[in-house]
Amino acid sequence: MSKKYPVDYRVNLGQNGNVISIEVTCCKRRIGELRYHDEQSITCPVCGARHLLRLQYNHFHLALTESGITLTGET
Ligand SMILES: [Zn+2]
Repeated sequence: MSKKYPVDYRVNLGQNGNVISIEVTCCKRRIGELRYHDEQSITCPVCGARHLLRLQYNHFHLALTESGITLTGET
């Protein structure tokens, strides 16, 4: 089963509407949280996709890149 599941980014805002953190869901599971700093990234342990946060002057990007990680384990 190599079906890809949608990715979800949950952006947590502070009281002033400022971004505090971004929770990343990949492969139907929450894989972690990105602090709101430039070049933060997290890699999904299931599919090996890397989720990257890039801050710019007045906006930010959430990028998804495939990594060459080889997974060992259960099949
Ligand atoms: Zn994944």
